[in-house]
Amino acid sequence: MLVKENLENFKSKIDQGVTLVAVSKTKPISDIMEAYEAGQRNFGENKIQEMVNKYEALPKDIKWHMIGHLQRNKVKYMAHFVDLIHGVDSFKTLNEINKQAKKHDRIINCLLQARIAKEETKFGLEFREIESILQSKELAELENIKIVGLMGMASFSSNEEEVSAEFQGLKALFDSINASNIELKILSMGMSGDYKIAIKNGSNMIRVGSAIFGSRNYIV
Ligand SMILES: *Cc1c(COP(=O)(O)O)cnc(C)c1O
Repeated sequence: MLVKENLENFKSKIDQGVTLVAVSKTKPISDIMEAYEAGQRNFGENKIQEMVNKYEALPKDIKWHMIGHLQRNKVKYMAHFVDLIHGVDSFKTLNEINKQAKKHDRIINCLLQARIAKEETKFGLEFREIESILQSKELAELENIKIVGLMGMASFSSNEEEVSAEFQGLKALFDSINASNIELKILSMGMSGDYKIAIKNGSNMIRVGSAIFGSRNYIV
């Protein structure tokens, strides 16, 4: 019952315009089913193989979000069902997603991951690289992908101002792209520890794991 209670409590706190992706990585099928029965349909995983196994075992109206860093050679395993890929950080990866989506006659929605944290370990594109990908002729040729927004992870910091400034920077980029002739709908920012700050700064999609499913037993 805990998952259901956490989820309901959580949903009562966030605005209707914000999509909640329940991050179920490392969690068992039974936890996901409990969330599903409470009405949750968007789930996020960070490993392709784990997501494929869960997809096969669970109801087919679940929307699966790939939120982790992508291994290009594994994109083919999820191309027939993935709903949104959050962590795209190279043109090469877009190319591979396009190629695999084409085989299934699908258009796969993608987010470009921006590097907003100061920490060295965080993946992601620089803002100017995002703008150049979006404006490139090569992108226009990829008919089986669609870039529908941006994703970012802030520093793991207790300094609220620093986290807030990082989210604000990405929101500014999102707005400036939308002011051009390119339309982006989704701004995926915020996790269990910083979703409130992210929403304050314009996030409309949050990726929340531990605040719903409890802490994970191992680091992923
Ligand atoms: C694990 C993960 C989350 C969720 O983290 P929590 O702190 O458990 O909410 C969100 N986004 C990404 C990219 C993740 O890998």
